[in-house]
Amino acid sequence: MELDGIHHISAITGNAAQNVDFYTRVLGLRLVKKTVNQDDPTVYHLFYADEHGSPGADMTFFEYPGARPGRAGGGMVHQIDWRVAGETALDFWQRRLADEGVETERGESDLHFHDPEGLHHRLVITLTDDPPLIAEHPAIPPEVALQGFDGVRAYNDHPQRSLPLLTEVLGFDAESDTHFEARGHLRGATYDYDPAPSERGVPGAGTVHHVAWSTSIQEIAHWQRRIQEAGFRPTEVIDRYYFGAVYFREPSHVLFEISTRGPGFAVDEDSATLGQKVVLPPFLESQRAKIEKALTPLPTPVRSA
Ligand code: ZN
Repeated sequence: MELDGIHHISAITGNAAQNVDFYTRVLGLRLVKKTVNQDDPTVYHLFYADEHGSPGADMTFFEYPGARPGRAGGGMVHQIDWRVAGETALDFWQRRLADEGVETERGESDLHFHDPEGLHHRLVITLTDDPPLIAEHPAIPPEVALQGFDGVRAYNDHPQRSLPLLTEVLGFDAESDTHFEARGHLRGATYDYDPAPSERGVPGAGTVHHVAWSTSIQEIAHWQRRIQEAGFRPTEVIDRYYFGAVYFREPSHVLFEISTRGPGFAVDEDSATLGQKVVLPPFLESQRAKIEKALTPLPTPVRSA
């Protein structure tokens, strides 16, 4: 039983309209699901991904309108790494982001930048044979498009405390005390630790809420039991409609989720028109008019014809 890299990453936005513009028009991801927070249907839960809404390329945001900017600290993910094909892609993104007024920092095989709320992203030339997970966009040729997650980096001053969970329970390969890879037969992704900054972390806009690792519908209950039997405190398997989910904190305090690859985003929408209308859980459908009026107006994502 192995985890197939990252399933999705969830973060917080205080400005949903700006968020949709940046992740769809600028970065070229596809908005694959526009739904509401089931506990507070006046705010969005937005899902961006490749063309097919695949696990491995799914970046989600919880909207907290007007949320104050957060700051990553100990026990928080602070950087998201995306794969791109090569130097041509880095050149393309360096130019495209500059045209958008986004500052970048170019390394030999990577490009760093922040989203409008300060979330740190890095594009890295891929070294894997994992299938690229790409969205279609009229201004972004597929050969330079984002290809899905390569990994995440978290702040942790005591990596040795997390080691037994990561390696013995979750089956991550450890190349050192601070560099891990979760690789299954489908995909892989890295998990790295950096020393925490002296200032405490503050959850808020532009910070990561949790990172989810990918499994099958058949195996999620086994993972839940295994994590529990190892002395951690996972939730039960929760039905998130588009996938099953188990949540727990790893010893550094980073919130982990294990999520299933199915049933996926086409379970309640046609895959050709994913993300175009607000999807409500059945128990809220009768209040659609009222809910839609309360939601933040969003730009229509740019799509290829
Ligand atoms: Zn999640």
